[in-house]
Formats: sequence, C-alpha cells, structure tokens
Amino acid sequence: MQTQELNQQVEAQLIPPPFNIKEYCIDNHASFEKIDQIDPKLLSKFSQVKRFIERWDADQEFRSQVVKDPYHTFVRYGLQINPEDVRPKWDKDCVSKWQEEISEFSLLKLSNEFYERLDKATNEPESAPSDPHIRAWRERQITRTASQLNPAFHKVIQHIPVCFELSKGCSIGCRFCAVSAPRLSDIFFYTAENAKLWREVLELMKGFLGDAAGNGFCYWATDPLDNPDYENFCIDFHAVTGYLPQTTTAQPMKNPQRTRSLLKLSKEKNGICNRFSIPSLKMLEQVHQEFSPEELLGVQIEFLNDGAEGAEKAHAGRQREQNIQQGKLDEESHKQGTIACVSGFLFNMVERSVKLISPCNADERWPLGYIVYDQGTFVNVDDLKTLIERMIRDNMSRMLRSGDLIRFRRDLKYEALINGFQLSTHIKTFKFRHNSLWQELGVLIHQGQHTTADITQLFANKGVLSPQTSYYLNVLFERGVLDSEPQP
Ligand code: SF4
Repeated sequence: MQTQELNQQVEAQLIPPPFNIKEYCIDNHASFEKIDQIDPKLLSKFSQVKRFIERWDADQEFRSQVVKDPYHTFVRYGLQINPEDVRPKWDKDCVSKWQEEISEFSLLKLSNEFYERLDKATNEPESAPSDPHIRAWRERQITRTASQLNPAFHKVIQHIPVCFELSKGCSIGCRFCAVSAPRLSDIFFYTAENAKLWREVLELMKGFLGDAAGNGFCYWATDPLDNPDYENFCIDFHAVTGYLPQTTTAQPMKNPQRTRSLLKLSKEKNGICNRFSIPSLKMLEQVHQEFSPEELLGVQIEFLNDGAEGAEKAHAGRQREQNIQQGKLDEESHKQGTIACVSGFLFNMVERSVKLISPCNADERWPLGYIVYDQGTFVNVDDLKTLIERMIRDNMSRMLRSGDLIRFRRDLKYEALINGFQLSTHIKTFKFRHNSLWQELGVLIHQGQHTTADITQLFANKGVLSPQTSYYLNVLFERGVLDSEPQP
C-alpha cells in the first residue's frame, strides 16, 4: 500500500467525520440561552472549534499549514473536529457561500451563535452609576471619546465606573505595556485590617455607584494573580456588590491549580467573564496542554504575540515610547491609542490612593492613554468619603458654573460657518448652526479666554437673556466638546 494511502486511512480514524446535527439533542438552537441544558457532546464540539480558532488567530505557521494540508495539520494539533466543519475560516473561496448561509447547520455557524448568546446571557450589572453627578459626568466622557477613539474600539469599551489595584506594579513586565506598569514592589494582603478597609471601601463605592459598582474589576497596571489573596478580595466583592469581578491574567500557568479553582469560583458565582492574555506561542501551547478545551469554553484568550492576527499593540505607555523612537508619532492614525476602559475611580489599595480617570488617545500630556482629572489619598473610609465627595463637587457639575473657563477641546478643529460653526476630529464633525448666536458663540469660545459669566454678560449686552445663553453653552457642555482637562 502506498504511504499516502496509508496516511489517509490513519487520518480518517483520527479525525471525526463532518458534523451532523442529527447526532445531537438539539431541535432548536434557541436553547443555547441556558448552557446547562445544552447537550454536553455539542458543547465539547464548540470547545474544539474555539481551540481551532485560538490556534488559527495566534499562529501564522499553523494558518499556512492548514491552508496547504488541513487534515494532516488537524491530526498534528490534536483537533477533534473535521476541517470541513470550519472550512470558511481557512478556505477563502468558500466564504461567499458561507455568507449566503448555505451551510445553515454547520458547526461553525452554530458555534458562533453559541458564543454570541453566551456573551449576552452573562449576568451583567447595570452600567450607569446611580449618583446623578457621576452618571452625567460618565455620559460626557462617553460622548467625548466617541469623537476621539477608533470607532471599533469605542464600541467595545464599557467605561467601567470603578477599578482596584491590589498590588503596586506588575511582575510580568511586558515591553509593550500600554499602562507602563512599574515592577511589582508591594502587595495589599488580606490581613484583618486590610479586609475591613476593603469591605468598607466596597460598601462606600456601592453607595455612590449602586448596581454599577458590580462592573468593577480588581487590576489595572497590575496582574491580579500577583496577589496571593486575590480570590478573598473577589469573594468580598461578590458579597457586597452581588457580582464576581472578571479576571484578566497574563499568568494562567503560574499555578494551574489556582487558575482552575478561580475558574470554578467564577462559574459558581455566575462570574461575568475571564480572560487569559497570552504573550507567546509557547504559553499558548502550555495552556492548551494544561487545560482541556471544555475547561476553557468560557475563557476569552487574548493574543499578544507578534504573529497573532490583529496583534498591533495600542499606542500608549511603553509601546508609545518605542513607536516614538521609531518615528511613529502621536499624530499618526493609530489603530488604538489606549487600552483604558474606566471612566471613574481608579484605586490603588496599597497606596490608599484614588484617581478620577477616563480614556483618551495617548499623547505627551497623557502618555498612559487616560486623563487624570483628579487624585488624592485616604487613610480610612470616612476620609475616602470626603475625598470622593470633593472630586464629585470639583469635577462633576451637571451644568457649567459661572467661573468656568469656556474653550473647545484641544483636539477639535474649529471652523466658522456662515450661520454657526463646526468642530471636527478625524472621526467626527459636530455642526452648531442655523442662527447668528451660534456663530458669535463659536468665535468667543474659540478665543479661549472667557468664562461662563463673561460670555453671559457679553450676550446680555446684546439683549440675549441669560437662560438662553446658558442653554446654548450647556448644549456644548453635554456634547463633550468643551475642554474639561485639568490645567497642567
Ligand atoms: S501588559 Fe498587563 S501583564 Fe503586561 S506588564 Fe502591563 S499590566 Fe503587567
């Protein structure tokens, strides 16, 4: 028998036949909403598709091998699905047929539906903070960033209202770290004193944010698993807010047993979602060896290795410094200029510090990709309450105050129009027009020297009533086009 023929026979035994929906207990895929009611054999198939996609997304060499010789490659990588089941991923010629929905019950299509529903079915808290000042301030940040950040990225960031660092620095030291995490230097251990403070801080923030506090998470320029007591903090977080914080770690292999227990805890407490950040193919191989496809069914994998599809790093922090050294400046259009996803309070529990932050494209002023509107430290929870109240008072007025200096954001290009003016970024143009008031207001604000009171007086001199001026100014305020950055 020829070697090629022999190989084909062996492969036929190692690779399952193409997916056939009739073999599974599923009449109607609406039942995907309840994961425990899905046929475990089908879940296992979905997990194999996920594993294939992970390898496909991460590994250039794998991609070219699959295209050349799918069966051999699937056998070599131990994938327990038939290459036909995921053909639209690796065969360009088949994509148009796929889009015409010829393969209605194909495994890839069902699997995509399953993961979409899994995301939607997650028990997510309310996103808007309950405090009206914080809520309005966050809305303005969302409006501002919609005209600054790449729309694809803007669509996915949630403007989380609070997050907590439970250590100082990070042990991983990625060369591209967009938040320039310093070396790990201290840890907020779960001592009796720290646990008491932690619960008090959570209670306080729940009071300010309501259900939205449950969107918080416990890392920033830190890796959660650097803190040996991370899980205890998460359990308290769940007890106070009703939600287990999501975990993103770059060290799932540091202690696989611990990682496994954390995933179990997340499942038990109906956790939001978890992510592994994978910096190299070597780590992907280790993760795939250690954890079964079924174990990672609900874990998103983010690839940071160079060969990964769409692996371009955000132009912020250490990556920005490298880009600048190579002549890629801030002004160039970068796919992503920040990884920040918090519009709210960033705590460091080691330092007992809080910053009021919101995302922006990294630049000379904000190299880490977020604006720091305010910051302070606290010694105890009463002190913290006073600090947060002061931050709200100073930064989150719901209307312009008479002493506010009124000027346009520095990233907006102002242009006078016949009956108004327009402001634009490379993403969006705002037009304010249809009467001479807009036109005059545009000119005054563009001068950048007048307060609300000045503008109101100048307009009053021309017979414009102050409520009318206030209305126009506050339209601009709510659209997020007025400069609100702290003065350097
Ligand atoms: S990217 Fe994440 S894991 Fe890497 S150094 Fe920064 S904070 Fe640590």
